[in-house]
Amino acid sequence: MKARLPRTVSLGHYKIHVVLASQTILREVAEEDESSSLYDGCWVPDYKEPVFGTIYVDAKLSAKKKWDVFFHELVHAVNDLHAWVAQELTV
Ligand SMILES: [Zn+2]
Repeated sequence: MKARLPRTVSLGHYKIHVVLASQTILREVAEEDESSSLYDGCWVPDYKEPVFGTIYVDAKLSAKKKWDVFFHELVHAVNDLHAWVAQELTV
């Protein structure tokens, strides 16, 4: 898949932003300690409407790998959105 990643994913009225980022940014947003390892991507929830959070993908990856990382992080995003919506419904 060579197409570029979407900048935004819409799920109903919720939106998830998609950002291509440097390792420096990925390290900042990932908030994980002592990483000498590289980050391929990261999901950062904001728990707000309409933008629920942001998926960061390493800008230097190949197009194919970007899609792989994008879908991996999107699954995390959808899981968090599901949990959040379910919680909101019971409050
Ligand atoms: Zn993961």
